[in-house]
Amino acid sequence: MNSHNTWSNDRYQKVVEAVAALYVKALKDLPPDVRTALSHAVRRETAAVGRTVLGTIERNIDVADKEDLLICQDTGIPVYFVEVGEYSGVNPVHLEQAIREGTEQATATHPLRSSVVSPVTRKNNQTNSGYRVPVIHWEFVSGRDDVQIVMVPKGSGSENMTYFRMLLPADGVQGIKRFVVESVVGSGGNPCPPVIVGVGIGGSADLCMVLAKKAISRPCGSSNADPEVAGLEGELLQAINASGLGPMGLGGVNTALAVHVEHAATHISQNPVAVNIQCWAARRARLVIASDGSMVVGF
Ligand code: SF4
Repeated sequence: MNSHNTWSNDRYQKVVEAVAALYVKALKDLPPDVRTALSHAVRRETAAVGRTVLGTIERNIDVADKEDLLICQDTGIPVYFVEVGEYSGVNPVHLEQAIREGTEQATATHPLRSSVVSPVTRKNNQTNSGYRVPVIHWEFVSGRDDVQIVMVPKGSGSENMTYFRMLLPADGVQGIKRFVVESVVGSGGNPCPPVIVGVGIGGSADLCMVLAKKAISRPCGSSNADPEVAGLEGELLQAINASGLGPMGLGGVNTALAVHVEHAATHISQNPVAVNIQCWAARRARLVIASDGSMVVGF
């Protein structure tokens, strides 16, 4: 076991600091792909009220940039997607601890609002962490020697607009499309549109939901590598934007900036579909830890 634990204690301590910086970066600096998608939305918008809302969103981003403020007051529930390279030499137990400590350090030293409470007592320990939180999803990648951590501070207005349905196989892709469009349109202005719609299809119920969350963490407007799934993304985007719901649900052609679908094989008698919505403040940041121990926070 020790032979795999090649990272020094000093390196884990540096990860704590890097994760703290990662969380703050995610909260303050919108990724370039999201900024570009919002600019395109402004140019595309035909409804006067939609243009006004998008203009306000642009000013919000501008003020956050200039004043070094959070893009939104909701610090979210901290979610991390971790890719561990086969030859990285990391000890996942130590890395998990470092991610938790980094989250707590950012919360204490920035300071950040703590958005995490017990589901039973609603007690907030003011750390943005708690039992089984931060949420950490692990992926193990063959042939790589680095570790990459994508941080998503998931705001509640959009996280509350999350849906899951076990459709019948006979419902087919048509049933999936209907469920996704009805979920997004039924959410109205609650998830702060224009949104990124994350869709999970296939797998088991639990995997399907994780896939929907993974989908919203992709760069805005990126396509699934499978052409048939990418086609479904395009069809869903068109159908959602044809609804006229628009920015903040007040009318317009920009209800969604993108639809991302992640898929997995499933059971012969199952057809699971999950929808996880990401608001316009599609915050995420990436920490890359190279094999030599150097660390870069970016997107
Ligand atoms: S849904 Fe997003 S933009 Fe709306 S309040 Fe929550 S974090 Fe902010």
